[in-house]
Amino acid sequence: MKINPNYANVKKSYLFIEIAHRLREYTAAHPDADIIKMGIGDVTLPLAPAVVGAMHKAADEMGKKETFRGYVDDNGYDFLINAIKGYYKKLGVDLDYWEIFVSDGAKSDLGNILDLFDSDNTVLVTDPVYPVYVDTNVMAGRKIIYADANEANGFLPMPDPSVRADIIYLCTPNNPTGAAYTRAQLKEWVDYAKAQGAVILLDSAYEAFVTDPDVPHSAYEIEGARDCVIEFCSLSKTAGFTGTRCGYTIVPKTLKADGDLNAMWLRRQTTKFNGVAYVIQRAAEAVFTDEGQRQIRENIAYYQENAKILMAGLDRCGIKYFGGKNSPYIWLKCPDGMGSWEFFDRLLKEANVVGTPGEGFGVNGKGYFRLTSFSTHERTQEATERLYRMLNG
Ligand code: PLP
Repeated sequence: MKINPNYANVKKSYLFIEIAHRLREYTAAHPDADIIKMGIGDVTLPLAPAVVGAMHKAADEMGKKETFRGYVDDNGYDFLINAIKGYYKKLGVDLDYWEIFVSDGAKSDLGNILDLFDSDNTVLVTDPVYPVYVDTNVMAGRKIIYADANEANGFLPMPDPSVRADIIYLCTPNNPTGAAYTRAQLKEWVDYAKAQGAVILLDSAYEAFVTDPDVPHSAYEIEGARDCVIEFCSLSKTAGFTGTRCGYTIVPKTLKADGDLNAMWLRRQTTKFNGVAYVIQRAAEAVFTDEGQRQIRENIAYYQENAKILMAGLDRCGIKYFGGKNSPYIWLKCPDGMGSWEFFDRLLKEANVVGTPGEGFGVNGKGYFRLTSFSTHERTQEATERLYRMLNG
């Protein structure tokens, strides 16, 4: 037996372990400290009533002989696939039923999709980056190259025609920077991918947070994207499904490759995955109803208000930041030339606020810091006031 040697090359998941370690150490010494946590990107509001109602109803159906369901249909139940199809239709995007695959969330599919690609492919990711794109490819032994996201390009790197890439990851709106590509910018990436014969794996986990009319909700709003983009969507941040688990992946039948990626993905999923639970698919269906959409929009609006509170607080402190407008994340430049971890420590000890050091997401994150809007208005406001006091004595 030989193990996969590539695992030795996967970096230890140092970031959140180190944050937890420093937090534990501090709270052990200061057990009464009132800590405001704005680090981890998990939602805080509960599921919408329409979603919970659908789950209850579906659970009851599972308990009756006449309505019990066993194994799930191929790529998801038709009621959910049609609901997703309808959602895209409202964006002006026509999808074929068999291009939509229901999943247990974006993270699984972002990793699993790599089954379809040879290990001899060059992978292009941005830096800073959501670490899953890097780790899954390191596990498979692929070569990874980086596109710099920095202040000069507004944390939105554009393609360099002189760079060869086969698999391109784009996350827009971005985790961790909160930056989001406009239609025109995404079109440049689509044109580049087509010219290279590359595929774009587009992570749109945060599309529901988009407010800017120039920023697309789906890559398929861009001409030519059906030729080169696989899109990964999630109800985690859209509808608070981080613990409930449901998402969907779009694999167009028109993707240009030396094989039928849509057919390969169906084959892969029906071989290695047995679908998302009926109760959860009914819950997901409820997200797309008028009532569900109204309710989840209320929750998103609540988080967006937190982002505004944070941005106003940072403006008051004179701190430069990115994101926030189309995203639950705010990516700030650490004040007074502080390093990410230095700022983390000061913020923890002097303001009792926890965030995420930017350098945990890549070299270009050095000197930057991520705050999230997944909190309450009161705690978010309090955090900004503590930050102001920390910097102004
Ligand atoms: N993609 C990005 C960019 C994320 O930030 C996250 C979660 O934090 C995910 C995917 C994971 O989504 P899911 O919960 O659907 O697996």
